[in-house]
Amino acid sequence: MKQTVSSIKKYGQLKAEILVEGINYSDDFLVEFSKKNDLLEKRRAYGNSDEKMFPKEMKVPQEILLPEGIVVAVNQRNNAKWSLECVNDNFYVTNGEELIPIEFPQRPNFYDLKMMDGSNVSRVVTLYGNATLGVFSPGTCYFWAKGEECKFCSLQPTRKSQADHEMFIKPATAKEAIKIALESEGERVNHFLLNGGTISNYDLGFKRHIEVLEAVSELDIPSHVEKHLISMPPKDLSLFERLSKTGATIAMDLEIYDKNLFEEICPGKSKDYGRENFLGALKEAVKYLGRGNVYCGFVGGLEPVESLAEGMHRLGELGVVPAINIFHNDPGSQFANRQRPKLDEVKEIGYHMSVVYDKYNFKPFIKNTGRNSLDTEAYLKCFL
Ligand code: SF4
Repeated sequence: MKQTVSSIKKYGQLKAEILVEGINYSDDFLVEFSKKNDLLEKRRAYGNSDEKMFPKEMKVPQEILLPEGIVVAVNQRNNAKWSLECVNDNFYVTNGEELIPIEFPQRPNFYDLKMMDGSNVSRVVTLYGNATLGVFSPGTCYFWAKGEECKFCSLQPTRKSQADHEMFIKPATAKEAIKIALESEGERVNHFLLNGGTISNYDLGFKRHIEVLEAVSELDIPSHVEKHLISMPPKDLSLFERLSKTGATIAMDLEIYDKNLFEEICPGKSKDYGRENFLGALKEAVKYLGRGNVYCGFVGGLEPVESLAEGMHRLGELGVVPAINIFHNDPGSQFANRQRPKLDEVKEIGYHMSVVYDKYNFKPFIKNTGRNSLDTEAYLKCFL
């Protein structure tokens, strides 16, 4: 069926609402969901956004697919207005008035396949947003050891209790795992995403990321699969030249545009790298990768819309694409009890993104698969 703009808008806005409020489900729903061996379970490589603390063996949903193929993270919240329901073997999201049919991503076959050393491919690769192969390494971040982690981050407690991923992934291991994953799921996969915590030697950390990208690039990757990196910037900005040869885009996440709030919310990034250096690195990266291929991630809902909008417009002028995840108050993070943003605020953020994307002809990061972001929906003008 041909997609209509109004339908995309409706479900794009529903995604915003679900991200703002979270979503709930009952034990009965979980019983039905866990019977479906073909559906994807949630895996937690870097954070936990569920209010209830589920044992890691318990099968709970990671994402839902709304009509129009809109992907939304399932961030469980006890008092959320929207909930998941199973009726006669069909799945829905409901607010008690509307019953909207949904789907869950299919569990990929490669989760059960083995590497040469006998370990599961799933210890290296996670499927996100139904079409992104994610590798997260290192699974640790030195800001936590200094008590200077970003205040919304739940990496360390999640890794201790709820992850089953390798902590450090070598280039050859990533290459082997991605090869297996692509052989099994090549048709539905559109993105390879490398991400990881920060080590104190920024250049070494960045080089390790490049080495993984280089190793994966040696594979015969289908032309529709794009490569992406999320990383802190290096100190030696000439490393962007080496990165550009891998063909990957990069996101370097300032998280908060307002100067004072950045210092307060991201103390490690602020002290050890610095806001001005960060902005300088983004600008420099554009010289090597080109306009529209360098992204800057922000957390929507932790600063006034005005400052975030100012940041989006300023970065847009530089050729840097704003990428915005909507804040969720993860247990285990310093902001576990912080209020989530209001829907109107999030829609306003979406509006500014749409304007900037349209003005500079930008494309969203990991297009169509960002489960906690509204990048794709802003690109589709859901908030104009
Ligand atoms: S840089 Fe911040 S958000 Fe990223 S892993 Fe470290 S503490 Fe968490």
